[in-house]
Amino acid sequence: MRGLSQYSGQIGIVGGGPAGLLVARELLRLGLNVDVFEASKQVGRPPHCTGIVSVKTLERFSVGSSCVEAVYREAVFVDDRLRVFARVRGSPLAVKLYRPCLEELLAGQVRELGGQLFLGARVVHVDSQGRVLVEGGQVNTYSCIVVADGATRNISKKLFKSRCSWLTGVEVRVELQKRVRCDAFYTFHGPRFSRGFFAWFAPVEDGRKAVIGVGSRDAVVERLNLILKLFDKLVGISSVYERRSGIILGGPPAPKPVIGKAYGIGDALCTSKPFTGGGLYAISVLYRPLALAIRLEKPRVYEEAYKALTRELKLQHFYTKIARNTWPLAKKVLELALRRKCHIDFDRHSSLVSCLFKEG
Ligand SMILES: Cc1cc2nc3c(=O)[nH]c(=O)nc-3n(C[C@H](O)[C@H](O)[C@H](O)COP(=O)(O)OP(=O)(O)OC[C@H]3O[C@@H](n4cnc5c(N)ncnc54)[C@H](O)[C@@H]3O)c2cc1C
Repeated sequence: MRGLSQYSGQIGIVGGGPAGLLVARELLRLGLNVDVFEASKQVGRPPHCTGIVSVKTLERFSVGSSCVEAVYREAVFVDDRLRVFARVRGSPLAVKLYRPCLEELLAGQVRELGGQLFLGARVVHVDSQGRVLVEGGQVNTYSCIVVADGATRNISKKLFKSRCSWLTGVEVRVELQKRVRCDAFYTFHGPRFSRGFFAWFAPVEDGRKAVIGVGSRDAVVERLNLILKLFDKLVGISSVYERRSGIILGGPPAPKPVIGKAYGIGDALCTSKPFTGGGLYAISVLYRPLALAIRLEKPRVYEEAYKALTRELKLQHFYTKIARNTWPLAKKVLELALRRKCHIDFDRHSSLVSCLFKEG
């Protein structure tokens, strides 16, 4: 049984994923004490994310490059018949973070700055008055609570009233028999690979290993096995390890990020990029305004940043719905955009559509 005296922070944080830990670090830097409650016994484990982000997102995290395990200059789009139909380039376009490394690094920074991190501490109830109840413990009252409970949204769903679409993602790491090109990742589209999403192949460790995953509305495990067979034929797979699964969110974002004394961030608010399910971008944009709003006791600072970001995410949500329901047409639009040399922003996907209208 945990006693009240253990919890000495001014701000309680539910969830020790990237969102919770980044906010914790920022609050500590602004001079506030924090208690972070993480249900798992270890941060970052089990890993449940590919970790591909833009360079700008990585920079906003302020964690250096020690957790970067691959740098990609190209995203290659492949269709059901294994034909490449688009290539998006950048210098670099994106990096791949090893997620357990990111969370361990952030947890270390939080501890160094004097934050308390309670592992194996599952929060079972939070309210808008700042009260937090940890399983097997007592109620503690904070001046503010940050809810960063991730895609399961066991606490945040009710509090922030988010009605978010989702599907299941499964992923494995594989050791390859043939070394592959390591500066590009591949996405596979069409009903053979996925219903409502896509499959992916992201090389790591100089192309000797790769992460292979699939997100789909149905039969994810069967689809993954099919894709593994296909890659075994193409490049040879000598071993499969680190099998994991998770929830991929598709938006739209929750209507409000602040309810009373509770502030939400990350998957808790369903702020993933709808086309790819990438949630780290929104966290990188929002964690500083959130901490500042708490420090200044001005929720508006956070609400405004949230509004600006979610305007773009809502637009992406709208376009993604169209693209998923009219895939052959959406594929043609992408091909056209690339022929016209439209710039495709890794994070702000709707820039592609505005480019088509401007130049069309
Ligand atoms: C297969 C897959 C691939 C993905 N690939 C990418 C990608 O390439 N790029 C990208 O940007 N995004 C990707 N994502 C999405 C990304 O993983 C999430 O957006 C990101 O992890 C969200 O961070 P978070 O801190 O909000 O939540 P999480 O990382 O889920 O962290 C939440 C934490 O809260 C803890 N928790 C939950 N409930 C409680 C509770 N009641 N009490 C205490 N602790 C609790 C959990 O244990 C967890 O540690 C992927 C997701 C999946 C499933």
